[in-house]
Amino acid sequence: MYRTHTCGELRLANQGTTLTLAGWVQTVRKFGAITFVDLRDRYGITQLLFGESLQAQLDAQPLGREFVLQVSGVVQERSNKNPGLPTGEIELVVQSFVILNASAVPPFTIQDDTDGGDDLRMKYRFLDLRRNAVKKNLELRYAVNRSVRNYLHENAFMDIETPFLIKSTPEGARDFVVPSRMNPGQFYALPQSPQTFKQLLMVSGYDRYYQIVKCFRDEDLRADRQPEFTQIDCEMCFVEQEDILNMFEGLVKRVFKDVKNIEYSEAVQRMTWEDAMWQYGNDKPDIRFGMKLSNLKSAFRKSGQLLATGELINGAGFGVFDNAETVLAIAVPGCAEYSRKQTDELTDWVKRPQIGMQGLVFIKCNADGTYKSSVDKFYAEERLKAIADSAGAVAGDLVLILAGREEKTRKALSDLRLEMGKRLGLRKDNEFKLLWVLDFPLFEYAEEENRWVARHHPFTSPKPDQIDTMINNNPVIEQAAEYLAHPYANIKANAYDMVLNGNEIGGGSIRIFQRPLQEKMFAALGMTPEEYNHKFGFLLGAFEYGAPPHGGIAFGFDRLCSILGGSESIRDFIAVMLDAPSTIDAKQFDELQIQLNLKP
Ligand code: ASP
Repeated sequence: MYRTHTCGELRLANQGTTLTLAGWVQTVRKFGAITFVDLRDRYGITQLLFGESLQAQLDAQPLGREFVLQVSGVVQERSNKNPGLPTGEIELVVQSFVILNASAVPPFTIQDDTDGGDDLRMKYRFLDLRRNAVKKNLELRYAVNRSVRNYLHENAFMDIETPFLIKSTPEGARDFVVPSRMNPGQFYALPQSPQTFKQLLMVSGYDRYYQIVKCFRDEDLRADRQPEFTQIDCEMCFVEQEDILNMFEGLVKRVFKDVKNIEYSEAVQRMTWEDAMWQYGNDKPDIRFGMKLSNLKSAFRKSGQLLATGELINGAGFGVFDNAETVLAIAVPGCAEYSRKQTDELTDWVKRPQIGMQGLVFIKCNADGTYKSSVDKFYAEERLKAIADSAGAVAGDLVLILAGREEKTRKALSDLRLEMGKRLGLRKDNEFKLLWVLDFPLFEYAEEENRWVARHHPFTSPKPDQIDTMINNNPVIEQAAEYLAHPYANIKANAYDMVLNGNEIGGGSIRIFQRPLQEKMFAALGMTPEEYNHKFGFLLGAFEYGAPPHGGIAFGFDRLCSILGGSESIRDFIAVMLDAPSTIDAKQFDELQIQLNLKP
């Protein structure tokens, strides 16, 4: 037996016991004739005391960091206790030891504040994983996994595996492909998600399915994207949107309870996609704080206040506003006292290439009721007040205004809002706010191809009362510039996203389950019957054999874990990073009958 106890479990009660530990050497401290060693394993750290009688053996076999050690000895009370350590009241007086394996000097120290940079830590991930900080992340991931499985099991969901080597049907992201040796010239794809499989399982009558499953998308890497990532993938039969919302907010609340001991008792807020876009500038609003966007142009148009003077809308005033497609504002609480330096810095912030705005206009709503602005020379003070009022500002606020093309301005102000929220400490790590975003558009318009694309995916159903609009209209867009006037532009999807603290953590939809509507959808996306029968004939065929109404959702498991763990990067919550891709042998190419033809 290599060990009788772990390095995390010994307490005063074990005093006098003779036992054996095994683990890694964290530190070695020599004081004259005695040597202290901190021995570490997954469960903790125990101090070892090597007395005088062992010094000769230690000199002959010096211990280094990360050596693997087996020690036997007696537990004794420590004279110099360490209250910061669960085992800090005791130490093991070593009677004998064996070096099970030596270690090269590690390239960084195995402790919470390590001196290894990101690249080094990723290269030696197996050492990085010995660090407590990383281990905690993986423990959290496992806790989320258990909680999810328990909840879904209690609610009659069945975990059913689906294949990884599938037919390529790219829609949305790019597929990873795998050559088939047995069928030269043919390729499998790795699934972007088990979407069509889970729908087939519904047709088969497995009315509550789930899987914690790897998905593969050949996308460019970002901190929050990985080519392979894990989803909590779920599907249910005989459900409407409301059933899904209830079931899965239950799931997330259960995870909060099990993993963070947070009682999320309030109902999860709901918001339409349109409100999210207008009020927060994006479809995954962080609702931990307000600071909503105001549309100054339409506000003034409605009230006519400034329009009548011609100042804000029709020339005569500040040219940038007059000529802009849109003018949007946020009122930042308590920042009216910003110095020139601070407002200049914010202006630079919006001018950075990532944001790309030309400039930033501000109005300070001073506590004494006066107004001060970067566009003072264009507007009298009462006009500034009117603008600030329509941005919902009160005394003490700093109104920040951006103008330009609608989409870009909205995105920029949304980013600025999040930045100000962060700077003002309004986006607290330990506060969790869930939100359902509903009523997404079913289609988006792809300008380059002059056709519709599915905003979620092609299996998403329109709202029940809009099915007729979809069936009865020709999807072809005659006038590209007027696509917004096409009836398809207004069709809403029976789809929902779950948002946590400004991150989309899950999304899904009620599905199309009848062949004619599914065919209409494929046609709307520009596919010919030959194309959709070739790619999705299996699903269309299955819909002819008693497909029940169904719907589902998938959560991004890695991201959910990273948010619960208070980290920005999902990589911190994934165990192993591989040194891949790489080239393959000539023999492998030969077997696959593939010849490389790399473009220079
Ligand atoms: N399969 C979808 C996705 O990966 C989620 C769903 O609709 O259930 O986004």
